[in-house]
Amino acid sequence: MTETLTHILPGRHLDLFIKKATAAVQDDPFSTLLILPTSNLVREVRRRLLDDGISFIQSTVTTLGGYADAVVDTHAGGKIRITNHEKELIISVLLQSRDYPLLAPKRKPGSGIAKELRILFDVLQEKKIDYPESLGLLQSQKSDQIGSVYSAYTRYLSEEQLLDEQTNIEWATKQIDADGGPRSVFIYGLYEPFAIEKDLILALKRSARCFEYAIPYLPESKCFADDGSWLQIKSIETIPTDTLPPLARFFDDQNPTTIRITAYRDPLDELRGIADEIHTLIDEGTAPGDITLVFPAIADAVHLTEEIFSEYGIPYSTSTGRTINSAPIIRSLLLVLTVPVLGYQRDDLLALLKSPYFRYSWDQSGELHHLDGAKVDSLSRRSGVTKGRSDWHDRITRQIQARKADCETLSEERRIYRMREIEEDFAILTGIESLFEILETLTSDQTLTDHLRRYRSLLTTLTLPVIQKSGDQDLVEDEDRALLAFTRILDRLELSARIIPERKITAATFLSLLKTVGSKTRIPTERTRHAVQVLGIREITHLRTPHLFIAHLTEGTIPNLSTRLPLSTNLETKMLGTRTGPEILREERYYFLAALASAEETISLSYPKTDGEKVLLRSGFLRDLPEYENEKRSYKNSRLARAEAAGSLLEEGDYAGAYSLLPQDLDLEMAAHRITIEEYHRSGIPSSPYDGILEDDEAILTSLHERFGDEAVYSASSLERYASCPFAFFARNVLSLEPLPEIDLDLTSLERGNLIHRIAYRFFRERSDRTIREENLQAAIREIRSICSLELDLYARNNPVWTVEGERLLGSDEIGVGVLEEFLRYEMKLNTSPFVPAHFECSFGLPLTGDGDPASIRDPIVIPLDDESAIRLSGRIDRIDTTEDGRFCVIDYKTGNSPGYRDITKGRALQLPLYIRAVELGMGLIGAGGAYYTVKKGEVKCQAVIRDAAVEDYFKTFSRSTGGGDRPLPEIISESLGWVRGYLDGIRDGRFQTVADEKDCSEYCSYKTVCRFNKQRLFEEETE
Ligand code: SF4
Repeated sequence: MTETLTHILPGRHLDLFIKKATAAVQDDPFSTLLILPTSNLVREVRRRLLDDGISFIQSTVTTLGGYADAVVDTHAGGKIRITNHEKELIISVLLQSRDYPLLAPKRKPGSGIAKELRILFDVLQEKKIDYPESLGLLQSQKSDQIGSVYSAYTRYLSEEQLLDEQTNIEWATKQIDADGGPRSVFIYGLYEPFAIEKDLILALKRSARCFEYAIPYLPESKCFADDGSWLQIKSIETIPTDTLPPLARFFDDQNPTTIRITAYRDPLDELRGIADEIHTLIDEGTAPGDITLVFPAIADAVHLTEEIFSEYGIPYSTSTGRTINSAPIIRSLLLVLTVPVLGYQRDDLLALLKSPYFRYSWDQSGELHHLDGAKVDSLSRRSGVTKGRSDWHDRITRQIQARKADCETLSEERRIYRMREIEEDFAILTGIESLFEILETLTSDQTLTDHLRRYRSLLTTLTLPVIQKSGDQDLVEDEDRALLAFTRILDRLELSARIIPERKITAATFLSLLKTVGSKTRIPTERTRHAVQVLGIREITHLRTPHLFIAHLTEGTIPNLSTRLPLSTNLETKMLGTRTGPEILREERYYFLAALASAEETISLSYPKTDGEKVLLRSGFLRDLPEYENEKRSYKNSRLARAEAAGSLLEEGDYAGAYSLLPQDLDLEMAAHRITIEEYHRSGIPSSPYDGILEDDEAILTSLHERFGDEAVYSASSLERYASCPFAFFARNVLSLEPLPEIDLDLTSLERGNLIHRIAYRFFRERSDRTIREENLQAAIREIRSICSLELDLYARNNPVWTVEGERLLGSDEIGVGVLEEFLRYEMKLNTSPFVPAHFECSFGLPLTGDGDPASIRDPIVIPLDDESAIRLSGRIDRIDTTEDGRFCVIDYKTGNSPGYRDITKGRALQLPLYIRAVELGMGLIGAGGAYYTVKKGEVKCQAVIRDAAVEDYFKTFSRSTGGGDRPLPEIISESLGWVRGYLDGIRDGRFQTVADEKDCSEYCSYKTVCRFNKQRLFEEETE
């Protein structure tokens, strides 16, 4: 028997070792074994053997765990191997079977506890720790309960003939001791094996005739402690000190100054810098496969790498794909379960319906209807749906009823249109409810097997996911891989269900199980050695690469020194004798050194100085390395950066320069034209069709004259919209673009305004005595509060925000007097003026309703303009107060800010002057003034903004604007009509420019996302 122990540095002696193992394989192919430390190295060595034309059995070259699996699969008959995830499932079920009050109170294990126990059990098994006895005096109720679960778990494995990763190794060890193992065993590069792994290695040694063990070890080094003496091999080959490569003592001597570290601003900047360097290397002739990029925590870096490498067009290959939960197709499948489990929340349902992988149609009266996400979104906003299933039904039904009732006030044409809309809303509600009924079948408590069966059968019934086979081929393949991985998860869970104790679990637990497994499962990536290799730092150990990049070398990421065991204190961890801080530090150093040792020609180290928010420190492993600040940031190889540079060159007129930077198939003229639109036409004074100036287009002008000519009926608010921004008028009134209604738990500003209008209207209309005095004040307060309560009930909301809203109106002990009482007290003050409230919601040019103000007029009011033309106006006036001498004041209620006198004289506010003139013409009264009545908590006032100087006395008890009573009222109205004349010309002549200065735009403008001021607009289009 020959036994050799060789001390090696990471990656060294591998070729020689493979050579020896290959010779043994050729001599004795069925009884030779080559054990390697990582599956990455296994793959590499297998590839090399195949390249050299050497045939071998796959299980001949494997990892230690892989070898144990092969032994169990060959010899263990009825034994079943379980994964870590299944181990957690078993622990979770055991926690529910008995009361472990500290771990799972009331038999309900908290989230993550099964995983923590699994990790703890892994360590106890690997290190062969007697638990809880090893804790000695530190034993406690908690450790006793953990110990009980541990015993129950090991008992369960043995009774059910199951093997986890650790018992698998133990079983293989016993098998070799009983029946012998391979005759020739070569083990290369294992770093500090665990106790159970050592047992297996020793069993292999005992049965082998030839045993060669290469161990990474260098005496007096901070990276190595295991010299292999536990193998008790006499023949030891050590590393001759004169052959040590310069980096071998990286941690023992001063850091070599030949390696530099580059500091970047943030991770994005860092990856772009690296991608740029890699691109340059490839341009200079380096094969992509000769470049390796390593991350200490690769799982966190895959997303960004994918994004940046595709931006730079760099081919890459990685063992670590994205998690399947991050794939949109899988998110959509999970939403099918999330929607019913979380009670049909609005955002979840919309995310599902808007997913391209989901489609739902239902049969209504023999016709198939498709449930459209955008339409459901709009309907839910209009109806104020914010919560779960009953909210969808109640709110939408209420909204449909309210719209039906509203139909009475509409013209015939509008009514027909509105009825069609209502029918559509009703159909959508039917579709939503039929989908809810189907999804509801997933929500009952069932066994895991039944949950899986129902879920899979529902996906089949609904033909989900919807897959587009055309389009971006890479995307299609990516989806296929994610879907296959998800299907495997479901298959695997079905198998798991057979080996764990079956009991009913909630749909929420089933969903969380799927999500947890999905978050740990990565989409398999296609591996190719001809692309840049992107690896985790432990994967590169013992491999060789000409050009090495190690990124994200920050403190905390490497070294990562978390030592404490789950569910254990630091003292307990120490007592159990698991890994100490110095041991972990040594291990981290070893893997870093191994990564450095893999580089044959160049090494580039880097770190980001911030993560975008907080400052990051560079890894303490790099303490003496000189630092280089990357400030050039031109990123010449980035597709986006090149496009940006080309844009600048185009702007300067350098077409040839721009052309050299852009993809060959790009239509340069078209690109230049688009840039010109953005940079030239849409800047400065609006003067082109791209900014709403359509005056040169005859067809458009003809159409505008038809729609907005002399016969058109205008409202004051549409004219005010044109006054404040012609572009907004164009979007709303010409193109009929309607922004989606805001969704708000609170009252929207529109709802709040409507509520006050309704209350004030009902209060005055239902009273015969409309003046409020001291003697009828209390009765009036009771009356208006009762109206308010009835109106609030109509909204059927009962969240805390709504309760506060009610309190604000009605008043309470906490907030004192409510807005409505403040309003009535103010009315009492107004009562001393000659005005008396006379008309409410008086309309003109709108359909008449049974309960409308009797003075309402069906036809629009035709208001003459100065140039002998006229405007046809429609509208509804909140309130008209009259005097005994035939004068009147138009009043408009406001719950937000109201315009001032200057807004009227500058033509921005037209409502009061136009309404005064309309009442004069329609009722034959003489205008005295117009007022905005502000009704909000702490601020109730009726401000007469314009008033006839001749009757200024009438307004003594009103709040009065400065300047508003200095001129005769007809003069002010005539001035407003002059503005109206200009607006009509602007509309009919196609002048729909944006406002001159962005500062003048309203913060709440509904069209700010589509006008020229939103530079994001193009970007959003691109990223959709
Ligand atoms: S953001 Fe300004 S310019 Fe743009 S539509 Fe609104 S008001 Fe007009």
